[in-house]
Amino acid sequence: MAKGLPKRGDDYSAWYNELVKKADLAENSAVRGCMVIKPYGYAIWEKMQQTLDKMFKDTGHSNAYFPLLIPKSYLSKEADHVDGFAKECAVVTHYRLKNAEDGSGVVVDPEAKLDEELIVRPTSETVIWSTYKNWIQSYRDLPLLVNQWANVMRWEMRTRLFLRTSEFLWQEGHTAHATKGEAVAETKQMLDVYADFAENFMGVPVVKGVKTANERFAGAVDTFCIEAMMQDGKALQAGTSHFLGQNFAKAFDVKFSDKDNKLEHVWGTSWGVSTRLMGALIMAHSDDEGLVLPPKLAPIQVVIVPIYKSQEQLDTISEKAKEIQKALQALNISVKFDDRDLRPGFKFADWELKGVPVRLAMGQRDLENGTVEIARRDTKEKNTYQLDGVIESIQKLLDDVQENIFNKALDYRESHITPVDTFEEFKDVLENKGGFIAAHWDGTSETEDKIKDLTKATIRCIPLNNKQEEGTCILTGNPSTQRVLFAKAY
Ligand code: AMP
Repeated sequence: MAKGLPKRGDDYSAWYNELVKKADLAENSAVRGCMVIKPYGYAIWEKMQQTLDKMFKDTGHSNAYFPLLIPKSYLSKEADHVDGFAKECAVVTHYRLKNAEDGSGVVVDPEAKLDEELIVRPTSETVIWSTYKNWIQSYRDLPLLVNQWANVMRWEMRTRLFLRTSEFLWQEGHTAHATKGEAVAETKQMLDVYADFAENFMGVPVVKGVKTANERFAGAVDTFCIEAMMQDGKALQAGTSHFLGQNFAKAFDVKFSDKDNKLEHVWGTSWGVSTRLMGALIMAHSDDEGLVLPPKLAPIQVVIVPIYKSQEQLDTISEKAKEIQKALQALNISVKFDDRDLRPGFKFADWELKGVPVRLAMGQRDLENGTVEIARRDTKEKNTYQLDGVIESIQKLLDDVQENIFNKALDYRESHITPVDTFEEFKDVLENKGGFIAAHWDGTSETEDKIKDLTKATIRCIPLNNKQEEGTCILTGNPSTQRVLFAKAY
């Protein structure tokens, strides 16, 4: 129950952690950084998956599956890639345990040492490009448009349920193309797919942009991203799409013969979103009473709570409730009829905590009057509706909730993009207001690092729709041609 949920204003971080647990989304496991995703949390993730999967297929991609374990030598083939990921790799060194001689339990069998150590995939470019070498010979084999749904492992030092875990679930798209132009277009197309999903399904507005060299994916030529803003004014990188150039094709010798029979290296992209999106969804909309879920991703979109004093009343209400349930289900709206033997007040609070967008309360008197009380989770508004036409009313309400939570998040985001022109202002806004800060930067990694050291803020992205304007870097005073977005981030 919501009892005991800290308030966002008092301790945002504690509020989030408690909410994830109390709403039955996930919990920590025995291994630090690895989480158990509980059925209710997994149901939301499944909805995300289903929606994204359809979007990937509609843009021509097919799913495949590549192995969890990667030979260590593969990782070293692309120099930047290994540099970026080496620090986070879990390594398999042995393939057997044996009983300890002193009877103290099991130990690694030193005789079962692997000749070549294996890496638990932190991402799959290397194993996939080593496979693509065999799949691609001619321009007729291109483009190759593959996605996989999988788990990956990055040994994260500071973890938080969903937002940053050591093992996480994600999808990773890996595509191969005959030309640079096609690969760049693919990178941008998938960024648009992610932005569409974030905004129109999650109800989370995002800024599309490109990362600076410091924040670029290890092995990419360019990393594009969608950046979201949470209710505490911190930014969250919600998805990335990488233009890989010919880097992995060169590392794994993947060539194709073009129409003139000339051998060329293939151009590549990769793109991914993870269970971090669950964190984004929770943080962007939820309130002190619990989750607020967008109807399009809510596992239960409508809950019906009967209000009754006798079994007879319950029977009458059940009949009507089940009729409504059936009619809604026929429209693909998921409905729960909650006839648990519990007080209505308890049930209301429970479904509020779980973020169900629309709640119907049905009592004997309502039935007699041909009405029903409907509450929406986002604004907590309650109104009496006619039973006649209630299906249409609920459909409209679900659309309204979806739109309203997006608009609310958008208003917050828009009022938290602050242009500043001096470093003093920059620090002031960062400390006292938060959000994105639009500031001039001289374009060097050194300045970016210095600002990060001094303030913990990083450049989230250079927005794609940026307007060019003359200015001077807030730290060095050197000339700049555009503002970039800084923020403290998760
Ligand atoms: P990357 O391969 O680093 O571009 O990351 C792909 C996606 O996974 C991005 O959307 C990241 O936000 C997300 N991601 C990266 N690291 C983690 C992590 N430790 N836990 C959850 N999601 C992550």
